[in-house]
Amino acid sequence: MPGKRWTRQERRSVRQQLAAGVPPHDIAIENRTWTGIRYILRVLHLHWSNRWTPSQTRALIAQVKQEKTLPKLQIPGKSAAAINAKRGHLRNAGSLGDQRGASKQKYSETELRILDQYAWRLGWSAREVHASGVLPGRSYNSISKKMGRVGYGDPVRVQRAKQARRLTDDERNRLRQCLVGEGRQLSSEELSRQFNISIKAVNFYRRRLGVSLSWHEARAVSSTEEKRQRVAEAQRRWLKAWWAKYRQRKIEALLDLQQRLERREHPAPIRVCRACAYPWFALPAFFQVQRRKMPNRLKVSMARTCRICKMKLKQEAEKEESFATALSSATWDQH
Ligand SMILES: [Zn+2]
Repeated sequence: MPGKRWTRQERRSVRQQLAAGVPPHDIAIENRTWTGIRYILRVLHLHWSNRWTPSQTRALIAQVKQEKTLPKLQIPGKSAAAINAKRGHLRNAGSLGDQRGASKQKYSETELRILDQYAWRLGWSAREVHASGVLPGRSYNSISKKMGRVGYGDPVRVQRAKQARRLTDDERNRLRQCLVGEGRQLSSEELSRQFNISIKAVNFYRRRLGVSLSWHEARAVSSTEEKRQRVAEAQRRWLKAWWAKYRQRKIEALLDLQQRLERREHPAPIRVCRACAYPWFALPAFFQVQRRKMPNRLKVSMARTCRICKMKLKQEAEKEESFATALSSATWDQH
């Protein structure tokens, strides 16, 4: 590098600072820039990256083997965080003898096959897999995380997997025998747990075998969970009907208001809806108004889509959603 020649004094200072553990970026030489310092480090073959040198690593291993705790571990030029990380890597690599830490153990092929069988094919949840004990030595958290990583936790896939769960011939026979025999008076929820299939599937077999529970029987044997589901379903339907009615009334009221305003002498300015292109009045009754507090003023903005369009769009989105749900349950019943 063309420039002022490096004096012996300057070179010694660089070496001394490095030896004292000063990180290269913090080396200070009067009238020398970082570019200059980097140049001289290269010329002098001085190791200036933050990598662990073999001697630093050896020093750390020696200190750890003396059973020193993290605050007592000292390597010049290395922060506590760097020392902690290095210690973790050394431990995982087995360089620290029989010291064992919370190391991540990779899932073996066998474990992955087990996970595939129960979590994916049978559609078990991470909790069920853990509780069943088919993966000894794996915590619920570990199983849950792994399932997420391999995609078994994806709600759509889980749903599909559940639908795809078919009973083997043997299982089907046992279920049939059970349904016409001792399981006749068991709740569908209980049987769904025993055979690891959905409640819907149990009810499907009941219908097909002509041993469906009457409403009274179902009520008598069903558990709180089934009751809760039934009540929730009824509530959902009621709420949906209520919302549909509410929207209809709202739309009628808005159209009525618009007509009344049009007959006035000094109507408000017109605002065209971006979705339906209808020239409404620019009033909060027709367009949502948002007030946002800014540092030194109040920002008022009016929606570009009218309230009616917003409601209709929302309604459509909901319809599509319920349609999709209906479709997926219909696919099951065809099995
Ligand atoms: Zn509109």
